[in-house]
Amino acid sequence: MRINFSKGTNFLAPPKLKLINNYFLSCFMPWSLRFGSIFGIPVELHITFLLLLLIFSFFGVIPLIVIILLFVSVLIHELAHSLVGRHYGAKIKKITLLPIGGVSQMEAIPKSHEFAIAVIGPVTSIVIGIALFFVGTLFGLEMYFDLNWVELKSLSEILRTVMSLNFVLGAFNIIPAFPMDGGRVLRAFLSSKMDYLKATELSVRIGQSLAIVFAFVGVFYNPWLIIIAFFIYIGGMSEYQSTQMSSLLKGIKVKDLMTRDVITISPDATMEEFENLLIEKRHKGYPVVFEDKVIGIITINELLTVPRPKWIETKVSDVMIKDIIVASPDMEVFDLHTKFTEMNQGRAPVVENGKLIGFVTKTDILKFSDIISLKRI
Ligand SMILES: [Zn+2]
Repeated sequence: MRINFSKGTNFLAPPKLKLINNYFLSCFMPWSLRFGSIFGIPVELHITFLLLLLIFSFFGVIPLIVIILLFVSVLIHELAHSLVGRHYGAKIKKITLLPIGGVSQMEAIPKSHEFAIAVIGPVTSIVIGIALFFVGTLFGLEMYFDLNWVELKSLSEILRTVMSLNFVLGAFNIIPAFPMDGGRVLRAFLSSKMDYLKATELSVRIGQSLAIVFAFVGVFYNPWLIIIAFFIYIGGMSEYQSTQMSSLLKGIKVKDLMTRDVITISPDATMEEFENLLIEKRHKGYPVVFEDKVIGIITINELLTVPRPKWIETKVSDVMIKDIIVASPDMEVFDLHTKFTEMNQGRAPVVENGKLIGFVTKTDILKFSDIISLKRI
């Protein structure tokens, strides 16, 4: 979903909101713990979910059971999205469970199947709700909508609450507040009438307007709504930026914007020599090359991890980043940008037949997309 400015990047002076947005996403989402995988899809639990477990454990065992069942309900909802996505060829990276719902991270979502992938979530939650209604009724329990879950005492109350929660999960997700499921359904519908980017923009606007309403209602009735509104507002903006970028960069290859005159550094150079190179050339990062092969990248950040008195003895190979992204000249620039964001990196050497032929930075890509976006004004 994401355009992600590395911390401290200010060459482009992006509008403030963009920075908050991306900072938020890059800081918030990693606070998740992996606890297993289902159907080969890694499942992560966001730390706030654990916090919720802790809070509810003070209310007794039954509310705790309800929270765990809510967690299972959200998991089934997300699995439904992921399995339908996978069916249509999307690569599922992981599912993250948050107390306010889940996030299925997919790569290459087939646009033509977005409707099916989105709609299956709320449908699944509502079907679970209906199934629980019938199971409860079959056992002679009184099944009605009830969300009073702090004073729960019996099994029938647990079943009733979990049923109600699934109905809420389903109904809430139908609201066309992009990037929630209903908003995605709306975008799928709109994009059959107009250009995909326009459809996204319109869906995001509607979503953000609803988010403002949610926040307003939340102030008076339920603070939970304020948190959801915040997610919708930020999430929508982030997806819009990403969609805009993918449309701007469509068809543009790495070789079209890479720097061909690459300045490299040897792994045996000391930090002092690296400092001189930084001052002389004024780039923030360089590929480390040994016997014509790129073996790493070093940036000013690695230099700053070494105390100054040790600059004479510390070599580039001691601190360089070894796990780097290597781009090929024919790679799509947008795909490279996505990789930068995922791996939280900002630079990649471009290699063809084992030889270094260029260098691309995230800043190059952002500058380029800013310039070509002028064409649209
Ligand atoms: Zn959903």
